Amino acid sequence: MWDYLRINHSAMLRSPLFPVIVTVVSYFVLCLPFLACDIMGEKWPAIYWHKIQPGKMPTPAMLLHCSGVTLYNHLLLVLPAAAAQWIWRPPIPLPEQAPTLLELAVGVAGNLLLFDFQYFIWHFLHHKIRWLYVTFHAIHHVYSAPFSLATQCLGGWELVTVGLWTTLNPVLLRCHLVTTWAFMVVHVYVSVEDHCGYDFPWSTSRLIPFGIYGGPSKHDVHHRKPNTNFAPHFSHWDKLFGTHADFSFVKTP
Ligand SMILES: [Zn+2]
Ligand SMILES: [Zn+2]
Repeated sequence: MWDYLRINHSAMLRSPLFPVIVTVVSYFVLCLPFLACDIMGEKWPAIYWHKIQPGKMPTPAMLLHCSGVTLYNHLLLVLPAAAAQWIWRPPIPLPEQAPTLLELAVGVAGNLLLFDFQYFIWHFLHHKIRWLYVTFHAIHHVYSAPFSLATQCLGGWELVTVGLWTTLNPVLLRCHLVTTWAFMVVHVYVSVEDHCGYDFPWSTSRLIPFGIYGGPSKHDVHHRKPNTNFAPHFSHWDKLFGTHADFSFVKTP
């Protein structure tokens, strides 16, 4: 597959716009199933049972607000940044060999771990220093019951920082382009899942054993108790810094 893409679509793959399009399209596509769950609400009891904060469904105005913030940020910040790269960055060479599955898995996991560490520090500081919180991060805490489209309800500075790490980290870790794109899509998925508002049996936190991974239930707690669970994905940094808080709702079938 890599040979086919490399030979027939090299101009598209080398374009700085390609990772932007991959992340934006995967974001909206991955939000869709969770949006469907929100729209159906109590009409899908089997799904609704997994809602972390039942009764707190997003309204059309909330969905429009978050979509508006996302489009505004992408038009004003992400697209100009991609266009600037087009001008000053030399064309990216496409490696002849595809990565092995092991290289891909290790690369994606390494990028998630590195991002988790960087964002933990950023997030911790932006909650502890009031000026940073009010100026840059408060917009993400408008909604205390998260829903998929609230993932990208971010201030410009937060989006730029997150975008810089997701672009630079794979370069620092010397990842193959396929690994980089795979990481970007996985990262979009786990970020959307963190905010989806549902704790399904197939949530990443339930698939990864020993409570290593935080997932939607832990990030939902962060939106209700903002001085806990600062790490976006894994739970080790919050456990080390004493900011870890468990999901406190007990549901009976
Ligand atoms: Zn959040
Ligand atoms: Zn926060």
